[in-house]
Amino acid sequence: MRYGRIPDETIRRLPIYLRALLFMSEQNIKSISSEKLADFIGTNSGQIRKDFSYFGNFGRRGVGYNIEKLEKEIKRILKLNKVQKAALIGVGNLGSAILAYPGFNIIGFNVAVAFDNNPNKIGRKIKDISIENVSKLCTLKQRKIKLAIIAVPRQAAQETADKLVKAGIKGILNFSPCYITVPKKIKVITLDIAMDLARLPYYMPAG
Ligand code: NAD
Repeated sequence: MRYGRIPDETIRRLPIYLRALLFMSEQNIKSISSEKLADFIGTNSGQIRKDFSYFGNFGRRGVGYNIEKLEKEIKRILKLNKVQKAALIGVGNLGSAILAYPGFNIIGFNVAVAFDNNPNKIGRKIKDISIENVSKLCTLKQRKIKLAIIAVPRQAAQETADKLVKAGIKGILNFSPCYITVPKKIKVITLDIAMDLARLPYYMPAG
């Protein structure tokens, strides 16, 4: 099925739905109503129905959503139905934790290669992944890797992004606390825990 323009907010919520569904599958739950799914992730059922309406109708009145089917459909929409390989640049505190984290596989994501510019790190292995010299970034195109994660210091982020663009990368998850500029057709998502923390006190009771 081809879909029209789907709001970014809906796309942002799909992985949240997927995570809940994967958790339910693990518990051997076969179907779920939009109300129960909404309670589980702390949203409202109207939002869920609206989000799913962009992709046709997944649910049946009175029966709810078939979890396996819904899981497959969301993975297909997000293009997670085939393993997505990613490169990591910067294997410091954060980069090492990313390489060691098993949770990416569950959503069909594989951080397959890692690069750094520190000679003491190049050649070392974390979880079977050898850290390569950042000068080898240009090999990403022939390795058919189109996604990259930037975990270098802020000062090196733009220069790293430029090299990634040259190497044919199409999507970047940027952990460096800065805005990077790339050509329009390349998608950058910047993620900063500090920005989420900054929202938290607002919701806390006074006193
Ligand atoms: P770190 O200093 O431990 O690691 C940085 C790594 O990048 C080092 O291994 C270094 O050798 C390498 N590096 C430096 N310049 C490079 C270059 N030009 N090319 C390739 N590798 C290079 O830092 P960290 O604590 O792992 O943090 C990494 C980045 O992530 C920083 O920008 C930090 O601000 C950011 N960060 C973001 C979050 C978040 O919530 N988004 C959380 C923690 C850290």
